[in-house]
Amino acid sequence: GARFAKPAATRIFTIANQKGGVGKTTTTVNVAAALAHGGLKVLVIDNDPQGNASTALGIDHHAGVASTYDVIIEGTPIAEVVQECEAVPDLLVVPATIDLSGAEIELVSKVARENRLRNAVESYLSWRAEQGLERLDYILIDCPPSLGLLTINAFVAAREVMIPIQCEYYALEGLSQLLSNIELIRGHLNPDLHVSTILLTMFDKRTNLAREVADEVREHFPTETLEASIPRSVRISEAPSYGQTVLTYDPGSSGALAYMEAAQEVAQRADKPTTTTTPAAAEE
Ligand code: ADP
Ligand code: MG
Repeated sequence: GARFAKPAATRIFTIANQKGGVGKTTTTVNVAAALAHGGLKVLVIDNDPQGNASTALGIDHHAGVASTYDVIIEGTPIAEVVQECEAVPDLLVVPATIDLSGAEIELVSKVARENRLRNAVESYLSWRAEQGLERLDYILIDCPPSLGLLTINAFVAAREVMIPIQCEYYALEGLSQLLSNIELIRGHLNPDLHVSTILLTMFDKRTNLAREVADEVREHFPTETLEASIPRSVRISEAPSYGQTVLTYDPGSSGALAYMEAAQEVAQRADKPTTTTTPAAAEE
């Protein structure tokens, strides 16, 4: 298979969009799997109480399984909760269980409540190095749609934000709010955070509307938007119910090829200088 370029250091992404159903989870698991198929070592942190990323990766996440909840609330080391994804070699997963739904409230009274995931990730990276384990190339954090303390923890733990945008009406609605929230996080909690990557999803190139939305996104975010876009594909939406990503469920499908292309582009852009100012669309 393809061999993707290794990044100079571990790249940590939060996959974010304040809208639900735009393809955050689908993008997290398929980009992660594609990077792993490209020969890279990848960790997915499921930070959404729904646990959809865990389901899609075939990871045990029934109530009581050690999970993101334990990491964020109890301070359990990631090394003690991480699971290997059977379907995808080189892919590790911190699952989310329903316990995480209480975390938003429990976090409020915790010390360093915004930094808990970041501290856990940093400790895990040092622990791996001490153990002589292979360095992680990518960490992808899947988030709930709301901007609560769980998402804030992800924004503080990450350096890069990847925004999936669904090519439909109102796609850009809410985006300027997301960007100003990222700006706030950068100002107060994480000066390194920036939107490095935008991925157009559920793209149906036959419709004028999808093309118009895509053009508008590219106009606003010329350097951030990947050239690869993800088509609307039944195979992509079927894969999770088999505990698989589309890459193993139907490797030759348009969706699988598109996610491989997108991941390769992400990997290739690794060493490009990134934008440090918020894109113009935030200024509305
Ligand atoms: P989010 O995490 O933003 O809520 P999901 O990734 O769960 O969004 O996607 C929402 C729904 O859309 C899911 O049922 C998923 O299977 C489906 N979906 C996502 N991407 C595609 C696609 N490219 N083609 C078809 N269906 C998709
Ligand atoms: Mg989701």
